[in-house]
Amino acid sequence: MKSRRKFLEKLTLSAISLPLLPGSNLFAADEDPYEGPILKVAIMGLGSYGTRVAEAMQTCKRAKLVGVISGTPTKITAWQEKYGIPEKNCYNYENFDAIKDNPDIDAVYVITPNALHKDQVIRVAKAGKHAICEKPISINAKDGEEMVQACKAAKVKFLVGYRMHFEPHTVEVIRMRMAGELGKIMFFQGLSGFPIGNPDQWRLNKELSGGGAMMDIGIYSVNGARYMVGEEPIWVTAQETKTDPIKFKEGIDETIQFQMGFPSGVVASCLSTYSMGNLDRFFLNGTNGFAEMQPSTGYGPIKGRTHKGPLEEAIVTHQTLQMDEMSAMILEGKEPLVPVDGEEGVKDLKIMDAIYLAVKSGAKIILKA
Ligand code: NAD
Repeated sequence: MKSRRKFLEKLTLSAISLPLLPGSNLFAADEDPYEGPILKVAIMGLGSYGTRVAEAMQTCKRAKLVGVISGTPTKITAWQEKYGIPEKNCYNYENFDAIKDNPDIDAVYVITPNALHKDQVIRVAKAGKHAICEKPISINAKDGEEMVQACKAAKVKFLVGYRMHFEPHTVEVIRMRMAGELGKIMFFQGLSGFPIGNPDQWRLNKELSGGGAMMDIGIYSVNGARYMVGEEPIWVTAQETKTDPIKFKEGIDETIQFQMGFPSGVVASCLSTYSMGNLDRFFLNGTNGFAEMQPSTGYGPIKGRTHKGPLEEAIVTHQTLQMDEMSAMILEGKEPLVPVDGEEGVKDLKIMDAIYLAVKSGAKIILKA
């Protein structure tokens, strides 16, 4: 408890916010009504995750859903009614560039199929609006880099919907690792998967998804390995197995096991799959202790324990916390504990590109810094 306080005190000026103390919720400790700036957000893509984000934003203090971009007029009408969205803040995929003339929208949250993110984020940037984009930011690192450059050129922020970077149990394990409480980190295991249903969905169509389980859920183990270990991998190896080549066509990975090596000698062993349930687990092992989380990246509650006992952090709605924190980052320049910017998305994609290359070639792929 003492070391946690010290850590928080040290970071107060830069990164982590006091509301991440156990038993509290972000900004919930503020008893006075919030009077600071509010990020006005339009959601693009009113599908299942867009709906979850919209619901979560209802309890945001620093962010507000004010607009929508959708190709389905009936959805737009339903959202207008539900969230009180004015007609002037409603767009479709053809006309949303006109958002540049709308001063009532600060940022667009892109929540569409993966392969569409690149063009959509670039158009958002060109319209002069901040872009928040779902994971993976694109379907390869090269496209991701173009997105980063476009946002830089337009002088807008580009953030990735990496909600776990704010999640209190996750943050506590990172704090323990940074404080040396686990000793020297030696090993990480990430298991990410679920049995995917409907074979006709876009997630199983390479044109829209860019790949299979790795693009969708394996990315959590890639990203998680990086924030849990606190280093960037220098090599990967990977092996693919497929039990159902009809459902999981060419270019759609069903299951990939992959390994990563880090500069200090840490190794990671991970599994990404679309055909196994109950597979949402992180394990971080050091010379003085361990942390294990299961579920580790689902919508929550996140559960876990360390060598010191159960993790008893605040249970939060991830997307509410994420959007409040992103508002503080965009409007007030706050720095997060773990980066959530476009470059972070590109780092994950470089590793995923290497994993796909390792599967194809059977070789150990050396990652360039
Ligand atoms: P979904 O299929 O439920 O919704 C996708 C939306 O995009 C739909 O409203 C659909 O109408 C729209 N769309 C626009 N153009 C489309 C096209 N050409 N083809 C198909 N749909 C089109 O998918 P989802 O689960 O909401 O996923 C959307 C994005 O959010 C993905 O990038 C996914 O990886 C990400 N996601 C993130 C999380 C998370 O926890 N961060 C969770 C789920 C999904």
